[in-house]
Formats: sequence, C-alpha cells, structure tokens
Amino acid sequence: MNWALVGASTIASQYMIGALRAQGGTVRRVVSGSADHAARYAQEHDIPHSGTDLDAALADEAVEAVYISSTNEKHHAQAMAAIAAGKHVLCEKPLALSLAEAREMIAAAEAAGVALGVNHHLRHAGSHRAIRETIAAGRLGRVLSLRVFHAVHLPEHLRGWRLDNPGAGGGVIPDITVHNADTVRFLLQEDPISVVAQSASSGMGQGVEDSAMSVWSMPSGAMVFSHESFTHPYTTSGLEVHGTEGSLIARGVMAQEPEGALELVTADGRSALPFDKTSLYETAVAGFMRAARTGKTPSASGRDGLLSLMIALAVRQAADSGQCQTLEYGAAT
Ligand code: NDP
Repeated sequence: MNWALVGASTIASQYMIGALRAQGGTVRRVVSGSADHAARYAQEHDIPHSGTDLDAALADEAVEAVYISSTNEKHHAQAMAAIAAGKHVLCEKPLALSLAEAREMIAAAEAAGVALGVNHHLRHAGSHRAIRETIAAGRLGRVLSLRVFHAVHLPEHLRGWRLDNPGAGGGVIPDITVHNADTVRFLLQEDPISVVAQSASSGMGQGVEDSAMSVWSMPSGAMVFSHESFTHPYTTSGLEVHGTEGSLIARGVMAQEPEGALELVTADGRSALPFDKTSLYETAVAGFMRAARTGKTPSASGRDGLLSLMIALAVRQAADSGQCQTLEYGAAT
C-alpha cells in the first residue's frame, strides 16, 4: 500500500513510518505546514516527495492511503479532503475535536467506501489482548471494577501545543483520556453510562488541564477509575481489573512499547500471564491494511474514535462543571 503522511510529526517519525514499512507499505509523500520542515523530514526518512500542498498529494493516484498525525484541530479537514479524494484514512487520536466533526468523517468514509481507522494503539498490544481474553474466558468472574493508571512525565520534546494550545486540541484529556476510554471499551466491551471527574493544572498545563481523574459507571455495574497526567516523573503505568473470581494486575502496559507484566490472582494463588510482544503499531497498521483490502471494519474504527472522544469530552465537561455527565449513545453512534 502506498501512503502519504499528513503531518511531519514525532509519532510518525518514532513509530509509524517503521510500522507502515514493516507491513510492506511504501511511504511516498509527506505533507506539512512548513516546506522546510517537510523537506528535512523527507530527507531524514527517505520519503521521495514532500510539500505543503495537501490537494497535490491527494491528486497523486499512486497514493492509496493517508496517515494523519498533524495537531488535533487539523484531523477533521485533512481527513475529509483525503476521503473526498478516495483515499483510505488512518487518523491519529483524537479523531476530531467535536462529535459533529467525527460523525461527519465516519459518514463521509462510509459514503465513499474507504476505510477510516483511528490509531488507538493500546488495544493492539499483546498485553491488552491477553487481559481481554482472560476476562472473556471468565477467569475473573464478574468484573466489579477496573482502574487505569496512565500518569506519565511528558517528554521534553513534546512539551509544546499539548500544554498551551487549547485550539490545537491540547490538554491531557484529548491526549490520554481518549486512549484510556478506548482501552476500557475494548477490555470490557461496554461503554460508560455516566462519568464524574476533576481536572487540574499541576505544573505543566497553561490554559489546559495536565491531569485528570474520573470515575465511570458501566452498564454491567462495573466501576471504572481513570487517572491521566503529564506531570508525574516517577510513577509506573498500569491497570487492574478486579472480578468476583480473580484480579488481574497489569504493570507498565499503558505504553508505546510491547512491555510490562501481567499477574493473575485467584483462589489458586498468583501466576504470571505471558503475552505476545509484537509491536503495537505494526499490529494496528496490519489490521487497518486488512480492513482497507477487504472492506471490513478496521480493528480500531472511526466509530471507536468517535466513542473514545465522546467519553473524553464527557470527562472534561464533568470536570469543568462539577456535574455528573450522562452518556447517551443514540443512532448517531
Ligand atoms: P508533534 O508536535 O511532533 O507534531 C505535530 C505537528 O507539529 C506536525 O504535524 C508538524 O506540523 C508540527 N511540527 C512538529 N515538529 C515541527 C518542526 N520541527 N517544525 C515545524 N513543524 C513541526 O506531535 P506528535 O507526534 O506528538 O502528535 C501528533 C498527533 O499524533 C496528535 O494528534 C497526537 O494526539 C497523536 N499521537 C498519537 C499517539 C499514539 O500512540 N497513537 C502518540 C503520540 C501522538 P505539520 O502538520 O504542519 O507538519
């Protein structure tokens, strides 16, 4: 598959160019807001064509798919243009800044018959798939609660728009809560019905929150706790799923690398659970390419992007208002 990159970003540079190439993809073009940046980026990553003109890149008939990793406020317009040009679209999270934009992207992709995926990498991790299998096999019994620990120390080189630009979709909620939302949806196979939350600026965020904690109610009765932050230098990520027959303790799994450890605790004692260590991003790209080829739904679809955004926006609204937010999933989801 021939790809155009839209956005000359860190994530494309660190993970996605390699993941696309590892699946036999060719990265043919990169489009950026800055011609110099695009040219340097193309040279560094051995990409034959670069420029600032998205329409020109989309007019290239050899380009079959675009990977969008620009700042968040650009995702919607760039995806709509790519879909209109008949390209498959793998878009970074958050899919868009508003639910109306996300719905428009999904409807356009359906009408055009192209695949629309969102790059929620965590559901593609061997660790998370092993947790899902453990829950589905009933080894935890009825799930009572799930706690997600996703506080990190934002690396120096990413301390830009995420921390001071609400217009670009900055803040920890659009950045990390969306990932937690997708992970919880994937693990429990259900969507929250209400959320309460608080958020804070605890040292990095300027005009946007850099930390949030929220509690979600699930239709099954399970309770979910989600913690995300940019400002925590010494913590470890992880999650815990607690059921009537067992608990699963996952350490270091809210990560970009296939790392961490899983421990199952039941009446029989404690045991380590093995899991597949394939690259998360390669698995995500392989799933997306399969969907584009077959016309099936991507493993993280536009709808998954819409729902993770819906949950994250409810968390932000709950934190801003101090009021419990009810989530209603109508026909539009
Ligand atoms: P970056 O800040 O690295 O890149 C975002 C944009 O900033 C680029 O597209 C580019 O704009 C501009 N930019 C970056 N460096 C330069 C430079 N040296 N000179 C000029 N412009 C520059 O963001 P990230 O890679 O961290 O994030 C990009 C997207 O990916 C976001 O939507 C984010 O949410 C998502 N993301 C997803 C992850 C995942 O695991 N799924 C992990 C990290 C990020 P232009 O578009 O004009 O080229």
